[in-house]
Amino acid sequence: MNHSVPQIEASSLPQLLRAMPKAELHMHIEGSLEPELIFALAERNSVKLPYASVEALRAAYAFTDLQSFLDIYYAGASVLLHEQDFYDMARAYLNRAVADNVVHTEIFFDPQTHTERGVSMETVINGLYRACRDAQIEQGISASLILSFLRHLSEESALQTLEAALPLRDRFIGVGLDSSEVGNPPEKFARVFARSRELGLHLVAHAGEEGPPAYIWGALDTLGVERIDHGVQSEKDEQLMQRLVKEQIPLTVCPLSNLKLCVVDDLADHNLPRLLKAGLKVMINSDDPAYFGGYVNENYTQLFAATGMGALEAYQLARNSLEASFVSDAQKAEWIARLDETFAQFAAKV
Ligand SMILES: [Zn+2]
Repeated sequence: MNHSVPQIEASSLPQLLRAMPKAELHMHIEGSLEPELIFALAERNSVKLPYASVEALRAAYAFTDLQSFLDIYYAGASVLLHEQDFYDMARAYLNRAVADNVVHTEIFFDPQTHTERGVSMETVINGLYRACRDAQIEQGISASLILSFLRHLSEESALQTLEAALPLRDRFIGVGLDSSEVGNPPEKFARVFARSRELGLHLVAHAGEEGPPAYIWGALDTLGVERIDHGVQSEKDEQLMQRLVKEQIPLTVCPLSNLKLCVVDDLADHNLPRLLKAGLKVMINSDDPAYFGGYVNENYTQLFAATGMGALEAYQLARNSLEASFVSDAQKAEWIARLDETFAQFAAKV
C-alpha cells in the first residue's frame, strides 16, 4: 500500500507522531492501573497489598518474561472490587488516550481476573461501559470493549464466562484471548470462539508474542480471528508472512511491551519496520502501559527514535490502526480525512 505523504521536517516528527489521530486496538485495561491508583483503591477498599509503597511497587516492575509480569499484574488487579473502581480505572486510561490523540480505542478486559475473586460480571462490565460512554460524551473519544479469556484457565471456564456476560451482550463488541501464551495454543479455545462467532462477536487473539508461528496459523484457521494481537513471531515463517500480506490481517504490535518482556533485547532491533516494509498491516499499541513504561505515543516516539522510521511509516501505521478498527467504513473515512489534514498541516510548516 503506497500513500503519497507530504514532505515533513525530520525535527517535527516526534510532534507529528503525538498529534496524528490514531486508534489503539491492543490495550488491557487492568494493565493501565498506575501504582498511585492501585494504592488509592487499596486504601478506599481496605485491601492489603504485598508492597509497602508506590515506589516499592514500581520497583517490582522489572520483568524477565511474560509470566513474571503476569504475577504482578494479577496482584495489582486485586484492589478492584466495586463498579466505581472499574469506572475510575477506565476514565484514567481514557484521559491518557485523549491526551495522545487516540480517536478510537478497543479496550480488552479480563473478567475472569475479577469473577474468580467474587466480583460480579455486572460490576466489571457496567463500570467499564459507563466510563467509555461518559468519555465519548464529555471528551469525544470513541471507545468499545473486548472481553478477553485467560488462556491459562480451561476452555470450560471461558465458556462459562461468555455465558455469564451474555445478558450484557450489547456492552462489548468482541472476544479476545490473552495471558500465558506458551503451552496454551489457540486450539484449546476452538469451541468458545465458535460460540462467540455464532453470537456475531468480533474475534481477536494474542498469538506469536512468545509462542511459535503455529499459534498464529491456529488463531487464523481454528479460531477464525480477524486480527492477531502481537504476531511478531510471524517473521519466522515465510509462508505465514505471505498469507498475512495477502489477506491484510492486522497485527496489533506493542513495542515497549516486547522490550520490557524481553521478546526483543533492543528497541533498535524491533522487527516492526521490517514487517511494515514487507506489506503487513501492522500498527503500534501500548498493551499494558502502566507496567511497560509508556502509553501509545511513548511507544511511537521511542520506536521511531530507535529505528529511524520517518513520516511515511508514521502515516501508514496510524492509517492501519484506523482501518483495522471495528467501526463503520464511513467512520474510518472521517478519521483518515483528519489524519490527512494533520499531515498537510505539518507539511505546510516546512
Ligand atoms: Zn496484550
